[in-house]
Amino acid sequence: MIDTRLFPVLGVSVILGFFALTGFHALQEGRRTREFIRDHEMRSLGMAVSANLDRTAAQYHRVGEELLRDGFLRDWILGGEEDEQELRAFLEDVRARFDMMDASIVSDLTETYYGTDGRTLVLDPDNQERDGWYYLYRDTPGETNIDSWYYPETGQIGMWINVPILDRDGTFLGVTGGGVLAEEFTETLLAFGRLPGVNVYMARHDGQIIYANNTRLVRSGANLDDLWKLPVRDFIPRNVTEGEDAVLEPQGVTGPLLWTSFSREWNTYLVLEKTGEIVSARTRTTAINSALAGGVLTLSFSAITLLIVRAARKRIQEQAQRLEELAGQDALTGLNNRVRFNDIIQRELTRIRRTGEQSCLVLLDLDYFKKVNDTYGHPVGDSVLVTIARVIRENLRDTDHVARFGGEEFTLLLPGTSLEGAWQVAEKVRLAISECSYPGAPDDFSVTASFGVAPLLAERNTEDGSVSLDRVYGEADRALYRAKHMGRNRVETAVA
Ligand code: GH3
Ligand code: MG
Ligand code: MG
Repeated sequence: MIDTRLFPVLGVSVILGFFALTGFHALQEGRRTREFIRDHEMRSLGMAVSANLDRTAAQYHRVGEELLRDGFLRDWILGGEEDEQELRAFLEDVRARFDMMDASIVSDLTETYYGTDGRTLVLDPDNQERDGWYYLYRDTPGETNIDSWYYPETGQIGMWINVPILDRDGTFLGVTGGGVLAEEFTETLLAFGRLPGVNVYMARHDGQIIYANNTRLVRSGANLDDLWKLPVRDFIPRNVTEGEDAVLEPQGVTGPLLWTSFSREWNTYLVLEKTGEIVSARTRTTAINSALAGGVLTLSFSAITLLIVRAARKRIQEQAQRLEELAGQDALTGLNNRVRFNDIIQRELTRIRRTGEQSCLVLLDLDYFKKVNDTYGHPVGDSVLVTIARVIRENLRDTDHVARFGGEEFTLLLPGTSLEGAWQVAEKVRLAISECSYPGAPDDFSVTASFGVAPLLAERNTEDGSVSLDRVYGEADRALYRAKHMGRNRVETAVA
């Protein structure tokens, strides 16, 4: 048979299992949220910013062509850089057409800057902040270069569209460019920078930050290298080709998420950061929500599981009891139970009808047994019942039958015994019970029993035996009642 003690263990295991699953699922949900932010949100944010940058660049695509028109600038430099008036008139014409802030050239021969703002400056390689862009450009020349400048005072970003001025044989003579205030693009960067937990950065290819929504970083000349302990060259992982984007987790799965891309045309890194705090807050919220939902489910499942387990346990106990009844044995004392005793008595009735013999039925009820339980507890009461069952058994013949009828009541069937004989047997059992001692009990502890004896008479026996049996029980019961009434611890016989 299934050990019913297993059920609580089983129930608790199932519930713990549910809770473990819920926790696991919540963690998974949290992890998935971070993955979603990394693989989808960061990419769409980045794409939106870089698309805006490309559109802005496209507007000024023709600036370079116009500045190199007719080889005017080339000839002006080769002609010895003499007529500045003429130069500024040319530059001013292009500036005005594209509504630019400024247009300028740098001659590499004299390392001199000429702008439409009227400035003529001799460049200084040691003045990185002002002139660094030029040397950087000269050392890594490309067809077009767009240099961006952030003006923290006005919060605006200027874009310089630079093209090289070349001799007919391709010798580098200098650079010319036009500067525009990229207002729409600036607005875009500012808008993204205002999103909670989002930071936007633009940096030159050497990592020098030229824009950050935290303007302090620009003013202090910070470098991308410094921000996340990640060298600039790692911002575009080797497996990503130039111009493509990447999402990085420079400080592991609890740190910030970075979307990075490098634009060769702009010679610029574009970096979007979602701070570790904001990402963790999102993952935490998802995990908590998932755990809450799972927790409610788990509790309901647990309640249902408990109910099922309890019902199953009750059913099994009922079935066990039923099996015991069918087996005919009383579980506590090992005596016959009422069901089997009824069979025995039926057979006895058939037998005496055939033989004409007399047999007797004895009912036995322990006296004041409730007090034993109340004083010493139910388990002690049970062990007293077991002892008394043994004492009764020991004082009967092998051919006699004894049963526990329920509670603290017993029945004896004494085949081939007269009423007088049965009375004597009952007396013997009564004495044995009253003199019985119980291990561990106080010296003066004793239990007594009252007895009612009634005859099973062949001549009273009907065809099916049922009426007669009821009558015999009734008589024995009345005799027992009398014994109780007359002071207990005594044997009474039925009066004919
Ligand atoms: P009396 O028969 O002398 O009138 O008094 P009593 O205290 O025996 O009265 P009653 O028959 O009403 O109570 C029977 C008590 O027997 C009730 C219960 O405490 C106890 N009892 C019945 N079955 C069991 C059992 O299986 N184990 C134990 N320990 N006690 C039982
Ligand atoms: Mg009773
Ligand atoms: Mg009793």
